[in-house]
Amino acid sequence: MTSSTVITNIAALVTNDPSLGDNSPLGLVRDAAVVIEGDRIAWTGESSKAPATDNRVDAAGRAMIPGFVDSHSHLVFAGDRTEEFNARMSGRAYSAGGIRTTVAATRAATDAELEANLTRHLAEALRQGTTTFETKSGYGLTVEDEARALRIAARHTEEVTYLGAHIVAPELADDPAAYVALVTGEMLDACAPHARWIDVFCEKGAFDGDQARAILTAGKARGLHPRIHANQLSYGPGVQLAVELDAASADHCTHLTDADVDALASGRTVATLLPGAEFSTRAQWPDARRLLDAGVTVALSTDCNPGSSYTSSVPFCIALAVRDMGMTPDEAVWSATAGGAAALRRTDIGRIGPGARADLVLLDAPSHVHLAYRPGVPLVAGVWRRGVREV
Ligand SMILES: [Zn+2]
Repeated sequence: MTSSTVITNIAALVTNDPSLGDNSPLGLVRDAAVVIEGDRIAWTGESSKAPATDNRVDAAGRAMIPGFVDSHSHLVFAGDRTEEFNARMSGRAYSAGGIRTTVAATRAATDAELEANLTRHLAEALRQGTTTFETKSGYGLTVEDEARALRIAARHTEEVTYLGAHIVAPELADDPAAYVALVTGEMLDACAPHARWIDVFCEKGAFDGDQARAILTAGKARGLHPRIHANQLSYGPGVQLAVELDAASADHCTHLTDADVDALASGRTVATLLPGAEFSTRAQWPDARRLLDAGVTVALSTDCNPGSSYTSSVPFCIALAVRDMGMTPDEAVWSATAGGAAALRRTDIGRIGPGARADLVLLDAPSHVHLAYRPGVPLVAGVWRRGVREV
């Protein structure tokens, strides 16, 4: 028989279900309790009405939120790029070519080294409240290296993304058409069984709109669903292509025309904003306020990778989004939980309500607002994943 646990005396519970709480998007419940049965939420409501359970945990007047859903990361890699970061912070511009450094290190690593590195970053993210993460290939760029990255990732998450089209492989730099043929042919055959998603870095210096369309369309034909790196470093066709292909998410969205914003507002594609990248490259912030005011669904994610955003901290991204991108604390917390779930087309995570997966974060604070109000402070006091307390 599965045991049940009630967590009581939660000062402020973010459910992300307006019908359970105060009718705001966060569905806030004051003086709340949550009941876990097995790996699922069985009940949420006011503490005084909580049903009897086998076990009891006292939240002692702290706040609870859903586990963070980090819907964009690149965690199968080896090496680091400390020197590149140091040089950039000393005045040199970022270019997509820096990825080649990580490609060389990743190809040279053993499976065990790649998996140990992944595991270490996942533990780091979990301590900061991340209970679901998506991760990508993209540092192998050969048939064998991309497929092994996905096999390793799939041992740790169901949200695995084939990103053979990160940059053109160095050995085919003079023949991008041949690389696109590989990505949509033999490499896709080897990678499709291990992935749920297909992604493209649609950017000057990486893949143009026609190449991105060919790659995502080929992936769709093999049962992979598209997501895309779009409009990060410059204006371009990526965002509108994402909406046209019903991609789950267009990621970065830093340089947007009014037509791009209108396209996002008219479709199901989520705009995933990745402020760690702008922070780490001293680039222009994405304008979250503009997207939210247009009615676009916004997710916040880390983009954790060794080149352009080496942070696994969703709370850090929340603080940046509130300080520099025009989001309210409520909006930023929603985007990092329910927004991430929407970007992965999931309804079982990113909320705290009956039937949802029991992924919970207890904050060492009386309110979720502290995530932005107290930047850089480790506020995660407890993490449950699938009903099991991990932190
Ligand atoms: Zn990325």
